[in-house]
Amino acid sequence: MRCPKCSGDNVTIQMAEVGSRTSRRGNGLAGNTYNAARGLIAVSTLGVSNLFMPKAKGHNKTKNKLEKFAICQECGHSWTVK
Ligand SMILES: [Zn+2]
Repeated sequence: MRCPKCSGDNVTIQMAEVGSRTSRRGNGLAGNTYNAARGLIAVSTLGVSNLFMPKAKGHNKTKNKLEKFAICQECGHSWTVK
């Protein structure tokens, strides 16, 4: 692996999470409110709504992507390895 900027070969590879922002979507206030409302509806309808309302888990099903980042120790240039 060589740095595309300075073509030095002192390059470190790191794994970094990407998309952690989007994975938290729905876990904030809106998500909690939705879950609370969902719980109330579930109680008032004896849980029937559980069949129709998927639980608001945000994007937990989507695993955070791990991407390879290469960092050049010579010039500090970093880029994504695909
Ligand atoms: Zn470099």
